[in-house]
Amino acid sequence: MPEAQETLLEIDLGALAHNYKTIRARLPDEVKFMAVIKAYAYGNDSVIMAKKLQDLGADYFAVAYTYEGERLREAGITIPILILHPQPVNFKNIIDNCLEPNLYSERVLKDFISLAEKLNQKDYPVHLKFNTGMNRLGFTPKSFKNIPELLQKSSSVKVVSAFSHLAASEAWKEREFTLTQIYNFRKIAEGLLKQLGYQPMFHICNTSAIFNYPEATFDMVRCGLGLYGFGNGKSIDEQLKPVGTLKTIISQIQELDQGGTVGYGRIFKATHPTRIATLPLGHADGIKRIFGRKKAGVYVQGEFAPIIGNVCMDILMIDVTHIDCKEGDEVIVFGGPQHATQFANAGGTITYELITGISQRVKRKILHDT
Ligand SMILES: *Cc1c(COP(=O)(O)O)cnc(C)c1O
Repeated sequence: MPEAQETLLEIDLGALAHNYKTIRARLPDEVKFMAVIKAYAYGNDSVIMAKKLQDLGADYFAVAYTYEGERLREAGITIPILILHPQPVNFKNIIDNCLEPNLYSERVLKDFISLAEKLNQKDYPVHLKFNTGMNRLGFTPKSFKNIPELLQKSSSVKVVSAFSHLAASEAWKEREFTLTQIYNFRKIAEGLLKQLGYQPMFHICNTSAIFNYPEATFDMVRCGLGLYGFGNGKSIDEQLKPVGTLKTIISQIQELDQGGTVGYGRIFKATHPTRIATLPLGHADGIKRIFGRKKAGVYVQGEFAPIIGNVCMDILMIDVTHIDCKEGDEVIVFGGPQHATQFANAGGTITYELITGISQRVKRKILHDT
């Protein structure tokens, strides 16, 4: 592969296909696959990823906000799209674009039904979310009390699925809590079947749960992180391939004498003659200040080079005193020699935040599978 000549996020569609097939193979045949492609497919590229996943056979997509779903429809995506976190102001656009809202409270459910009725909809597909312990979004058994009657009264909507979200599916020490969430969701599902008089799909598993709680796959799984090659743990990571590799280049090398300082605030001070490499990458690209001051580092010529001083908006500096390198050489931030999770953890954050944070100004380069 030719070396990167500027900052690039390389996106490997072959790795995406590998991850999809690996996870799909774990599921019983009848279980549907909802690919979660919110936040630009976790910082990759939502349209390109969606097209590939649609070709691979994904049954459903999920995004967080309505606008994300609209972009997918504009790009010609035809499979059903769940909007995980819509607002009433979006409901007209949801219907206009054949998107499917998560109705998570009485307020939004009433609003949606009244619009659907006004627009003469019949059996418009909607999803219900239940709060089983995450305490973020969704109905509790108590707040759901009036809902079955509202649903029975109107023929404008039809519940295609009911779901819940696990608070700690990656954590072994929270196993008991997770099993209780699953148990309570099962109870809700049984009750709902009776109340609705028809059978919606049920789902609760995210990536970690697919691996850690295979007995809870119900009718569908909602898989995000795993598709992009990460699994919140070594044993899952080993089965998957990271999709994104963040690369950049050495713009310039500076030779510092002892006592020389680097960057804003003069945070780094050379205690001995030091070679500094400057990279076209900064906090506006998603490499936050938290990664500076030697917290994290990058790879040059296969060797680790710590990020020194404060990360600037469009620039960061690394110490390459010990590395045989020159201006124009390629630099790998994550992917390849450094797993993205390792880089994220070095800065005190998690893979989700790192990869979704790579900003839209970073050029994406698609590597096609053959
Ligand atoms: C983001 C999200 C997911 C995907 O979780 P991963 O851990 O990335 O697989 C699933 N369900 C809901 C409700 C989400 O918000």
